[in-house]
Amino acid sequence: MRKPKVRAAPKKSERKKVFQKRPLEKAQKEREARAVDRLEQELLKGTMKFGKVVLQPLEELTVRPRRSTSRDAPGGHADHDTDVGEQKDISEINLAAGLNLFQGDILLPRTRNALRDPASRWKFPIPYILADNLDLNAKGAILNAFEMFRLKSCVDFKPYEGESSYIIFQKFSGCWSMVGDQHGGQNLSIGERCDYKAIIEHEILHALGFYHEQSRTDRDDYVDIWWDEIMTGYLRQTGKSGENSMAEQYLRVLSPTDYEHNFNTYDDNTITDLNTPYDYESVMHYGPFSFNKNESVPTITTKIPEFNAIIGQRLDLSAIDLMRLNRMYNCTATHTLLDHCAFEKTNICGMIQGTIDDADWVRGDSSQPGQVDHTLVGQCKGAGYFMSFNTSSGVTGEGALLESRILYPKRKQQCLQFFYKMTGSPADRLEVWVRRDDSTGKVRKLTKIQTFQGDSDHNWKIAHVTLNEEKKFRYVFLGAKGDPGNSDGGIYLDDITLTETPCPAGVWTIRNISQVLENTVQGERLLSPRFYSSEGYGLGVTLYPNGRITSNPGYLGLAFHLYSGDNDMILEWPVENRQAIMTILDQEPDARNRMSLSMMFTTSKYQTSPGGRLYTHCNCFRSIDWGWGQAISHQLLKRRSFLKDDTLIIFVDFQDLTHLTKTEVPTSGRSMMPRGLLLQGQEPLALGEGSRKAVMEESLPSGLGQRQASRQKRSAENTGPVEDHNWSQYFRDPCDPNPCQNEGTCVNVKGMASCRCVSGHAFFYTGERCQATHVHGSLLGLLIGCVAGLIFLTFVVFSNTYQKLRQ
Ligand SMILES: [Zn+2]
Repeated sequence: MRKPKVRAAPKKSERKKVFQKRPLEKAQKEREARAVDRLEQELLKGTMKFGKVVLQPLEELTVRPRRSTSRDAPGGHADHDTDVGEQKDISEINLAAGLNLFQGDILLPRTRNALRDPASRWKFPIPYILADNLDLNAKGAILNAFEMFRLKSCVDFKPYEGESSYIIFQKFSGCWSMVGDQHGGQNLSIGERCDYKAIIEHEILHALGFYHEQSRTDRDDYVDIWWDEIMTGYLRQTGKSGENSMAEQYLRVLSPTDYEHNFNTYDDNTITDLNTPYDYESVMHYGPFSFNKNESVPTITTKIPEFNAIIGQRLDLSAIDLMRLNRMYNCTATHTLLDHCAFEKTNICGMIQGTIDDADWVRGDSSQPGQVDHTLVGQCKGAGYFMSFNTSSGVTGEGALLESRILYPKRKQQCLQFFYKMTGSPADRLEVWVRRDDSTGKVRKLTKIQTFQGDSDHNWKIAHVTLNEEKKFRYVFLGAKGDPGNSDGGIYLDDITLTETPCPAGVWTIRNISQVLENTVQGERLLSPRFYSSEGYGLGVTLYPNGRITSNPGYLGLAFHLYSGDNDMILEWPVENRQAIMTILDQEPDARNRMSLSMMFTTSKYQTSPGGRLYTHCNCFRSIDWGWGQAISHQLLKRRSFLKDDTLIIFVDFQDLTHLTKTEVPTSGRSMMPRGLLLQGQEPLALGEGSRKAVMEESLPSGLGQRQASRQKRSAENTGPVEDHNWSQYFRDPCDPNPCQNEGTCVNVKGMASCRCVSGHAFFYTGERCQATHVHGSLLGLLIGCVAGLIFLTFVVFSNTYQKLRQ
């Protein structure tokens, strides 16, 4: 199985050439960068005042590395805009943590393999616990990954409420997971530097029952494994100690120094590909340099060379990952994608033309001269449809409605995203309305939500409209003619997506991106306009089209900064525990197939307030940058629809995660791990290997498990977090609907519902949901007296009546 390839291997030097990873001139560049830093600091000496916030000079605003986390300045650029740290892949992170797990990041129980075993499939929603040893950023990133699963599949998660099967996300060394439902509380480690959306998705996919793509039976038809380049006899020690050290020791002591096992394949008895093709783009595929001996020499190369830049992508689930997931779990719908339409099919997704208007939207295609849709941007002739409304004829005020089918929301907030252009008169209007249930069950009542005015801009533009629908509804586009005499165009619509997720706080569109990439030099940057977060913080994005000056060439860099803004006087400073999320949108029409890049970090007390230099484009002050010099390679960027229509679209969000500070809940004291864990060296007999017998008979001690073993078992019925199963506490108000009984008041305490029970003169209520009724002790006697009195009175009245009747 693990024989060197029969085919002639390219010479090492040739392979090196293909994979130039570290340029020689890096040290020189770093020296230049330090010079630039010094220059910038000179410019920024002195303290500036803005509102009530005293702004600090740049060097005092610097992010200092904290012991507990590596998210800050690991590169040691302590006096300049800060790189959060190059995103490392799972194999690198786990190696650095001294781990040698089965297939790199799988904690193996002694069971049948998960993928083929229906008993190890989960029932949804999967109960989860976010342990408090996780970094706050990791907690936010995990909830973000949950949201991606909810958007794309039927996989769902719920906070733990005493179930027997659940996943506890903890921070151990490295990123790893068990495979499939182990029918007990099972650990999933999101260690240092693992808190990236795609890495978390990768580990969750293991937990859902998937192995690595390159361990497929037919792997050798698609990739070459360079066995002589795989590291041997090498195990780095991290020398860490603390809460995780016991787990770490177990893992490390039992680890053999053999890494070839990472590249084994498994036969049909072990894994199934669920009848899907080999997927170079899978988030479960290793990258070319996994477990390599020599820095620039790969251990995996693809037989079709174009895919060398693709394997190991850590953007998001691929289309085939998703297909497999949906097949394994028989998913037919998603949780948060309500509607999407690219107008490619004649039924236009069940949309209807309004009946009360006098004009119509027309479905057009890209084959008409001068007409290009957004779905395919004219790549195919005769395909690529859009909807249009001609505003150059008829009379002013004439309009046409385009209505969605009736939709049934599950949440209370939706985001309507669409692409549009208005090429006619500036007086033309595109309005978004909703038609609501008029309380008789008919979806009839119209409410206007937002208006877009004509602008004669011939570019497709992205738009987001927030809806707050709780009952069945339709969304409606109204095109209105403003001035037909002065219009030679119309209103165009394409690629509509309706999700039950919040709209982004900021959307930055960069046009002619291919020119930008070509004409900027490394280190040069573009600043976004100022956006405001939902709380009112001013924020922006810095784009480094060719990376930071210290980056390797061929990458795009991305960073976040704060701007001073209109609300600074009343806002909380320093602005801690906010997660900044920057997303480069993959402009695929179907949100399920999008593989957008999302980078996120969470602010610490060192990331304080906007400071530094006055910028004229916003007439505001700007903080230093925090971000990634190498967010995504140009190769990956050009491959998917990131640069569609020669336009790059970046979303930015800034969310308060303070309510996630305390998320851990006690468990029922069960063993956190099934017995008989196996690490590499002891594989199940089904796998036909197992030369080393490094068996760990006892459950892997988990810090949390031990701490919690002594805790009292609590009844799940009464004391689980008051949570609705289909909702992430991240995106909803836990008090809506009010879970408290007996008119108790619900208070949102760090994202969890806490009931304040009513206490009346005679009764008071207790219990987590105020479900228990008590009578006040002092009143009890009185009450008994009253009841007794009432009975006595009744008796007297009755006997009097009886006596009267007898008379
Ligand atoms: Zn893995």
